[in-house]
Amino acid sequence: MIKENIKKILSELPEGVRLEAAAKTRTPDEIKEAIDAGLEIIGQNYVQEAERAWQAIGPLVKWHMIGHLQGNKAKIAARIFDMIETVDSMKLASGLDRACAEINKVMPVLIEINSGEEAQKAGVLPTDAAPLIQAISKLRNIKVMGLMTMGLFSENPEDSRPYYIKTRRLFDELKAKDIPNVEMKYLSMGMSDSYMVAIEEGANLVRIGTKIFGTRIRK
Ligand SMILES: *Cc1c(COP(=O)(O)O)cnc(C)c1O
Repeated sequence: MIKENIKKILSELPEGVRLEAAAKTRTPDEIKEAIDAGLEIIGQNYVQEAERAWQAIGPLVKWHMIGHLQGNKAKIAARIFDMIETVDSMKLASGLDRACAEINKVMPVLIEINSGEEAQKAGVLPTDAAPLIQAISKLRNIKVMGLMTMGLFSENPEDSRPYYIKTRRLFDELKAKDIPNVEMKYLSMGMSDSYMVAIEEGANLVRIGTKIFGTRIRK
């Protein structure tokens, strides 16, 4: 099933939109099947789980962190990930920068935007994004390459549209600022239920779990 699911999604994606498998709770075998079907980016939410999958599969594909990164995991994250999509504070960025400097790596990162502006949610508020990116742009071992957002949790993908539009506008504004050492290239938004809406609003990286692997049993 995984193969068929991926072929179908890939055939429907417009040119220039990349597919990322959101692989939380999936086994290395399931992830391998996805890779065999042509998947090139694997998203992971937890560093420990990512490390296990990484040990089984290795640098055959690009590994992206899409869950909240704890500062004390920065060293491992620096080593195994090809991109961190969830940077939302200077503290996290600085820790990651130091960990990357130790291994001579420049880490591409996306800034997670709390587009729903909900107090409990991860991500930086839209109005705080520009100053945060300005500050991060001074770090040598981190390179901002775009934005990521979760939008809103809802059954109806149309409910997410305003948040995707808001994030897209912010993306365009930041791009127009032409900040040195910042390349506004990736806009990561959209999940199984909402990726078509996200693509209509400018997403070029979509993170899909359920529609590739089936319903998750554990969270
Ligand atoms: C789980 C997850 C997804 C994918 O969710 P599905 O609804 O299973 O497609 C996307 N992004 C993040 C950050 C996730 O944690």
